[in-house]
Amino acid sequence: MSRIRFYNTLTKKVDDFKPVVEGKVSLYTCGPTVYHFAHIGNLRCYIMEDILDRTLRYAGYDVKRVMNITDVGHLSSDADTGNDKMVEGAKREHKTVMEIAKFYADAFFSDLNKLNIRMPDVVEPATNCIPEFINMIQGLLDKGYAYQAGDNIYFDTSKLENYYALTNQNEDNLMVGVRDDVDEDTNKKNKADFVLWFTKSKFEDQELKWESPWGVGYPGWHIECSCISMKHLGERIDIHCGGVDNIFPHHTNEIAQSEAFIGHKWCNYWFHVHHLVDKNGKMSKSKGGILTVSVLEEKGYNPLVYRMFCLQSHYRKPLEFSYEVMDNMKAAYDKLIRTTNRIKKDANDGAVDKAVFDSYKEKFLDALGDDFNTSMAITLLYEVLKADTNNATKLALIEDFDQVLCLDLTKEVEAASVDSELEGFINEKIAERAEAKKNKDFAKADAIRDELLSKGIVLKDSREGTTWSLAE
Ligand code: AMP
Ligand code: ZN
Repeated sequence: MSRIRFYNTLTKKVDDFKPVVEGKVSLYTCGPTVYHFAHIGNLRCYIMEDILDRTLRYAGYDVKRVMNITDVGHLSSDADTGNDKMVEGAKREHKTVMEIAKFYADAFFSDLNKLNIRMPDVVEPATNCIPEFINMIQGLLDKGYAYQAGDNIYFDTSKLENYYALTNQNEDNLMVGVRDDVDEDTNKKNKADFVLWFTKSKFEDQELKWESPWGVGYPGWHIECSCISMKHLGERIDIHCGGVDNIFPHHTNEIAQSEAFIGHKWCNYWFHVHHLVDKNGKMSKSKGGILTVSVLEEKGYNPLVYRMFCLQSHYRKPLEFSYEVMDNMKAAYDKLIRTTNRIKKDANDGAVDKAVFDSYKEKFLDALGDDFNTSMAITLLYEVLKADTNNATKLALIEDFDQVLCLDLTKEVEAASVDSELEGFINEKIAERAEAKKNKDFAKADAIRDELLSKGIVLKDSREGTTWSLAE
């Protein structure tokens, strides 16, 4: 099994990956809160998590990936304050919470599909798991890690020595945040304590409620990921992922309640994707005017152009979105697909050269195994296109790399679009040649003529300009 290493938010360094059970990986992903469409920032996160998932599979691991769907309990501040996002969504659209949840969960799955993100092996909505939540909360109460106050159940963070292990936050800078919070919860014993179960809801119109030993109510947000993960992946998991905004409080609280409940370490590696930003800062759903996959499609971008845009940068750096960069990416993607299509068409030119194949494959896995260096992986793809080997070998490598990149590199573009793509390519070359001639670079001009001829395209110069035809 090949070596994979990546940055672990828990140890704050790049660690070699070693699963709990050899050859197998348990992978948990925080899923979306389904009160609105996912914006392309959220989807950057899922694209890079998909790379994590697919790289592990490519390296030969048997991966089980689990994702929750947050359809209850997520308040708008991400702490225990603000409004309930699902209730807000339902009010906005004059629908029930469950209708909203179903509609936006389906929209999310459709986005995953368009972006070639593999569907997790298990997708579980929070509202499916209320008995599991109640069981964990009861366990925390029995062990003295939770308390009841003002009719809600809270987790007592002062019972843990290392509550802040995952985060750069501490009691002091947390205090500042809380002081600024107009909605401060006076029932808490400690500032960082968080709600496990609400019975005294501050929302009169809270739609979804369940019976519990502490009265009719509903769960806090964090409990769902601990329970859903444990339900499907057991008490020791390998990797947990999400966006960097999840580090605190969400993942910090997940660790607190999970480890207090099971009494030992829970998850070994924490993988966090940095944000997509635009010139105004972090993209977020609550800001309104969100940029979605459908908006990109309406503007004429194939969703896979956005996938390629994400892969060109490292997941641990903020990524700035702009239409200028997307336009460049679209041109690069279209050109790439034209090239891979041509290679595919001409791939009956011999047997796959195993030595060449293996050496590129190894480099590709090395790049991805080095903290998921996706831009290097794409550079290697371009090297393959230019490599001194036959098309059969190139095609085998393109297909192999595309198991992780998933850019549909060998999917045949429709005949009509091949024609127009081809035409675009030829026109680009004619313009390049005219420019070379203008600069008296006749060697370059001849090289372009020969390049086109080798593809069966004949150029004819006249006083009106250059025309082309297919060779007999
Ligand atoms: P949500 O649906 O708000 O719970 O978010 C879904 C996922 O997207 C979470 O893992 C967030 O951390 C992540 N996320 C939110 N905003 C961004 C952003 N601008 N860029 C990248 N990831 C984000
Ligand atoms: Zn979560």
